[in-house]
Amino acid sequence: MQPVRPFTEVASTAKASPIIRIVTLILAALSIFMFAALARFLYQAETNAIHQSFAAEVAQQALSFEREVVLNLEILFALNASVSLVETMTPDRFDQLTDDVLARSPAIQAFAWAQIVTPETLAAFESRMRDWYPSYRVSERNASGEVVPVSLRPQYAPVQMIEPIESNQAALGFDLASESRRLAALLQSMESGKMVATAGITLVQEPENQRGFLVFTPQFLPPVNEREAIGNEPRVVFVNGVFRVGELVNQSVGSRLSQQMQLQVVDRTRGAQDVLYSTPPDPSEHWLTSQTVVHDLPDVAGRQWYFEVTPAASLYSQRRSYVPWLVFGSGTVVVVLLVIYVFVTQRQTQDLNAAKSELERISLTDSLTGLANRRHFDQHLEQQWALATRQHSALSLVMLDIDNFKPYNDEYGHPEGDAALEQVAKALRQVATRPLDLVARYGGEEFALILPDTEDPADVAETCRRRIEALALRHDYSSVAQVVTISAGVCTLKPSENHSLKELTEFADDALYQAKEEGRNRVVVYSAERGLNRG
Ligand code: GH3
Ligand code: MG
Ligand code: MG
Repeated sequence: MQPVRPFTEVASTAKASPIIRIVTLILAALSIFMFAALARFLYQAETNAIHQSFAAEVAQQALSFEREVVLNLEILFALNASVSLVETMTPDRFDQLTDDVLARSPAIQAFAWAQIVTPETLAAFESRMRDWYPSYRVSERNASGEVVPVSLRPQYAPVQMIEPIESNQAALGFDLASESRRLAALLQSMESGKMVATAGITLVQEPENQRGFLVFTPQFLPPVNEREAIGNEPRVVFVNGVFRVGELVNQSVGSRLSQQMQLQVVDRTRGAQDVLYSTPPDPSEHWLTSQTVVHDLPDVAGRQWYFEVTPAASLYSQRRSYVPWLVFGSGTVVVVLLVIYVFVTQRQTQDLNAAKSELERISLTDSLTGLANRRHFDQHLEQQWALATRQHSALSLVMLDIDNFKPYNDEYGHPEGDAALEQVAKALRQVATRPLDLVARYGGEEFALILPDTEDPADVAETCRRRIEALALRHDYSSVAQVVTISAGVCTLKPSENHSLKELTEFADDALYQAKEEGRNRVVVYSAERGLNRG
């Protein structure tokens, strides 16, 4: 079949399609990436906003806690002031002084009264104390935590009175100087004359082993009446408070602390990291340690504490909006829809182009022989004429006509005639094979060959004639041979030599006419110089 040259735009659209697809996909990927970046930006902005509000909440909690601590220390301070007004302190008076305050201060585990005692006065002190408490004994705890009599030390600070006595019986007589943390705070308070807190201690009286701390306030009292005098030096006594950190937290931020917040109160005096209080960590939560908010508390009776709260991931996620996901999701959906649209449209365009190409092919092809039809012949001839004009080259046209085809048809029938036409077409196509050569069915049993820039077109025509003769299609009713033959007229013109296209077809036709005239089954060449000549 003669190759049909599709229109140039059809070819270019077909080739461009993969590029359009790749560009579309790249643009889509970029757009999705941009939406992801935007969503991430929004997510970060939201995280920052959540963190700000969380930090503000923690600041409020830290402030409340700080107030609670100060308030409780103030209570001790006030107690100390009132104690100094009492001339002689007895357990009954101590009870009266502390009773109401203790009832209203759940964070205060106890108030105690301790006195410095030397080894020399220890026995006298103990015996005097037994007037109040018959089994009173100055004691300490050994390594395994058992209460034992004190060992020899330069001075003792036994608990002389404690309130509420019912829940703190075990601490009565306990030598505060026997334990390093208490001793350190005790000495510091004695030296400075100020309120001094201990480092964190585990409150043995408490069921949950709650941590607490003791605060000492010193009093330097002159020796009083004989009954109370122990030695002649001024007595050093300490009013001390035992505070529960957990209760301080409860009283201040308890109700505002959610399950999704992990709170810690830490004593960091002198570089220590002593956790005084920690909410029980929920292992099912993921804790955002990067979002922890830390607040330093002002001096707590000589110690540096900080208050920190870590949020759970669930707390942040609860406070998040769907905006970042919405932006990413809707953006991606729009991009995907656009990609689908482009692909579908492109597919449709391709189908349309394919249909167009097919229509074009059909419109340019002769259905019986598959050769170029007359329309295609006219187009091609014009194109080649224009090309030859530009290139100053020659263009040859061969017109061919089957000899005595009417009787062939009449005798053998129309279907046989069609078959012969097909055979002839096939033979002609095999002769003209150069890319720009065109074999066309000119009409009926006439054919044409367009041969651009061909050296010997008469030879091509002669080859055609011989090939058709060689097909040996039996033709008993021909006037020239026993087989089907053709006559051909050839004309070659150079457009540059002032010839027209019309002349080319006319001269070729004249040559064909001449060939018929001269007896058929032959080639006649029309030459511009010499006119008609037999090939
Ligand atoms: P000449 O040698 O002078 O060319 O004689 P001719 O009989 O070939 O010329 P004429 O023009 O009288 O007859 C052409 C015949 O070609 C007429 C018609 O029967 C036949 N023909 C034209 N087109 C077709 C076709 O498509 N199919 C068939 N089977 N026959 C066709
Ligand atoms: Mg004819
Ligand atoms: Mg004919």
